[in-house]
Amino acid sequence: MSEAPEKTANTRTVENATCTFCGCVCDDMILTVDLDEKRITKAKNACVLGRAWFAEHTIDENASPALIDGKPATVDDAVEEAARILVDARFPITYGLSDTTCEAQRVAVAITDMIHGNIDTTTSVCHGPSGLAFQGVGESTMTLGEVKNRADLVIYWGGNPAESHPRHFGRYAVTAKGLFTPGGKKDRTIVLVDVRKTPSAGAANIFLRPKPGKDFELLWALRALVKGRRLDPAVAEDTGVPLEAMQDLAERMKNCRYGVLFFGMGLTMTRGRHFNSGALLALATDLNEFTHFVAKPVRGHGNVTGADNVVSWQTGYPFGVNFSRGFPRFNPGEFTTVDTLSRGDADAALIIASDPGANFPKKAIEHLHNIPVITLDTKQTATTSLAKVAFRTATYGINTGGTVYRMDDVPISMRPAFESPFPTDEEILKAIRTRVHELLLARGAGGAAPGSKVAARRGEFT
Ligand code: SF4
Repeated sequence: MSEAPEKTANTRTVENATCTFCGCVCDDMILTVDLDEKRITKAKNACVLGRAWFAEHTIDENASPALIDGKPATVDDAVEEAARILVDARFPITYGLSDTTCEAQRVAVAITDMIHGNIDTTTSVCHGPSGLAFQGVGESTMTLGEVKNRADLVIYWGGNPAESHPRHFGRYAVTAKGLFTPGGKKDRTIVLVDVRKTPSAGAANIFLRPKPGKDFELLWALRALVKGRRLDPAVAEDTGVPLEAMQDLAERMKNCRYGVLFFGMGLTMTRGRHFNSGALLALATDLNEFTHFVAKPVRGHGNVTGADNVVSWQTGYPFGVNFSRGFPRFNPGEFTTVDTLSRGDADAALIIASDPGANFPKKAIEHLHNIPVITLDTKQTATTSLAKVAFRTATYGINTGGTVYRMDDVPISMRPAFESPFPTDEEILKAIRTRVHELLLARGAGGAAPGSKVAARRGEFT
């Protein structure tokens, strides 16, 4: 009697898949997928963070695709409830967007425009100050491919990419071998400027440690040195960096072939904020008098750069945009989500692929508990737990295709690994958009109360 054949796993391999865990958006993943268990069993080329991202995303077949007041509901009913909440609100806000596709992001902007709401992304709590600095100072920019092929001086300022973006060094900027950098790290000088000695210091040829809160002063001193000005030696005591070290760095910057300044939240979210980012961007501009120099923020979430791009195409501004007057207005501090919640302005919230309920200030979280919240997320979070309507959606990049932007503004098309039983963010948002449109038309046609938002939208009340 012959033995029963051993059960072999029903697997497939997906080449050139994309990891969307961080802003590096590595698109050289080779994924092994167990189609029976609907999970990724191997992610070749992924770093430790990427491997955890792929391993974590399993499908919970028992989860309901939609919940209303915590109880299972159909997607259609949840869409109806979400649309009604948004249309009824006087100050609805949309927030999140940095962990979803560009296709979903643009539908979210359209909904917010239709309901005269307020749209903001996670940029407002990470590189928002850089967004302000770009508008004020400008940006000498590049792609990471150029850095790999050309950069011989790489400066990381206020970040720890060895732990936050593990493949940034190997794929793009430190050990990567390029056309004009065939020796990889041997052909580059790596500088780290940070208030802490992190694991990234191990990759650096030069480590400068300014006093906390003195980045602006150090950047301004470097600008002066690059322009040939003499500095008061007291600047060393003020910044914590020896004058000789500043002079050495200024000379290296002026004399390199292709220099790059990568900057992180250690620069943008500390004392000085957009002045710090602006000083760094101005330094890069100054250096173009002598050589080719560029600057780029190191972005965190997988598609936060896409969120900046999409919101900018559609409204003219990258985040913190308000449509209540029927046209986009940009005012960080007023229209950014921590502020609209903490002040109690928002009376409904549409939160997409983000968890402000876990990481916002206490006052903002308290207000989220007091207003109807609609969430789209791949898993249960602190925010989905307080939601009036919660949609469970497919994971971008793993279960859905679509477009994401790498931190250098290069768009990348994703190759999904396996199908999810849950709808995509884009599908849910399109359904909400359709229903919002129908409700607005119906309410308008039915005669809106004078002074109401619907009437104002129809031009009946000014
Ligand atoms: S560096 Fe970032 S995008 Fe690349 S594999 Fe690691 S976590 Fe994923």
